[in-house]
Amino acid sequence: MSSKEIRTRFAPSPTGYMHIGNLRTALYTYLIAKHDGGKFILRIEDTDQERFVEGAVDIIYKTLKETGLVHDEGPDIGGPVGPYVQSERKGMYLDYAKELVEKGEAYYCFCSKERLDILKVNAEALKRPFKYDKHCKNLPKEEIEQKLKDGVSYVIRQNNPTTGTTTFDDVIYGKISVDNSELDDMILIKSDGFPTYNFANVVDDHLMGITHVVRGNEYLSSAPKYNRLYEAFGWEVPIYVHCPPIMKDAHSKLSKRNGDASFEDLINKGYIKEAVLNFIALLGWNPEGENEIFTLAELTEKFDYATINKSPAIFDPVKLRWMNGEYIKRMSPEKFHELASPYYEGVITNKNIDLLKISELLQTRVEVLGEIPEMVDFFDTLPEYDIAIYTHKKMKTNTENSLTSLKKSLPILEALSDWNIDVIHDSMMALAKELEVKNGIILWPLRTALSGKQFTPGGAFEIADIIGKEESIKRIKVGIEKLEAALA
Ligand code: GLU
Repeated sequence: MSSKEIRTRFAPSPTGYMHIGNLRTALYTYLIAKHDGGKFILRIEDTDQERFVEGAVDIIYKTLKETGLVHDEGPDIGGPVGPYVQSERKGMYLDYAKELVEKGEAYYCFCSKERLDILKVNAEALKRPFKYDKHCKNLPKEEIEQKLKDGVSYVIRQNNPTTGTTTFDDVIYGKISVDNSELDDMILIKSDGFPTYNFANVVDDHLMGITHVVRGNEYLSSAPKYNRLYEAFGWEVPIYVHCPPIMKDAHSKLSKRNGDASFEDLINKGYIKEAVLNFIALLGWNPEGENEIFTLAELTEKFDYATINKSPAIFDPVKLRWMNGEYIKRMSPEKFHELASPYYEGVITNKNIDLLKISELLQTRVEVLGEIPEMVDFFDTLPEYDIAIYTHKKMKTNTENSLTSLKKSLPILEALSDWNIDVIHDSMMALAKELEVKNGIILWPLRTALSGKQFTPGGAFEIADIIGKEESIKRIKVGIEKLEAALA
């Protein structure tokens, strides 16, 4: 027997950035559909016109495209159940709300802002969550009709029972029952004629044939009210998959408002989009086995939404760095060079420097592309540095023996007719042997003089090779001068 095709939707509100939690929702939504060959739909939820942000929808398209979460239906490509932008569906909701009014499951409410404010203040004083008091539920029919005729501003509210319980199932959180006395008569249609998210999500998910509703667990507490709406209409309730929150630490949720990174922020810092997506997939879900590196295709094959964790996931930046480094190591040298190149711009201006050689050095050493400029700036110009960095306990170097090493190295290097890693290497090894000192006594001062830095990608031979003979000699002389001045 063939089962019903899975249809999932990602339904972002255009906020102007892609929050990490939203991207994870998009990913899980995509994976649930694609694991079973179903359809992944994009719906833009822009009914909150006050929060409208210019260009925000483009960020959603761009992120989905860049991460490979390709939708089958959506505002830009259309589909059988459009329009896919909620504001363009505005005219569709009122009739559904009126149907509920007819059924006694909803009612017109004409309460003024002042009256509602008083209710809110009272609730606050009693330390109770605000709940509308059903005042307009009991208005006589004639009065309602007169008010509507007179064009009095109104909203339509859901009419929830005050006794009994409502139960619903969530794949992650299980069976949840709430007392109906806790259910607020939430607004379905606002005074501007737009539906609330609370109403639109139910109508749209039904009309779009959504089988699995995937979203953040902040919607879990509203789910009983949504269930009542489905039931009032006599519609099939979708499978609910409410995802656990993503935490910054044990106490606070990851949030852009708290200064936490969005997807774009991470990309701008030099994280690889595939790595970010891979990392996000594991925030709240883990496949069996040790491996943690998966392509989107592999995730699609392995993903099982029934095994999403209920407990909050912690966003571990150290793990993200590690994972990003793994992606960098595994890419082709050509690809890495292409990604690294923009970071050399304005940092390495000397045309004689072979950037490919730098990329080769960096690929195994860099974890986040944004760190490249500070790692490579010394290739271009020798930075100001303190001679204290010549002294290294483990290498057994100090100001005196560093000076001796540089003075001995200088004429040998000056005399080399060829200039490449091998000849530089062999000449310096021979020197260490001749002087009967450990290699570090020669190499630490040399690398320090060549770079002016304590830490560098690559050692003395690679650096000398990249900056060239003339520049190397120049920098060694600077080193000698500095050390001599200190000892004078
Ligand atoms: N527009 C809602 C949001 O961005 C989506 C909630 C849902 O997926 O139902 O949070």
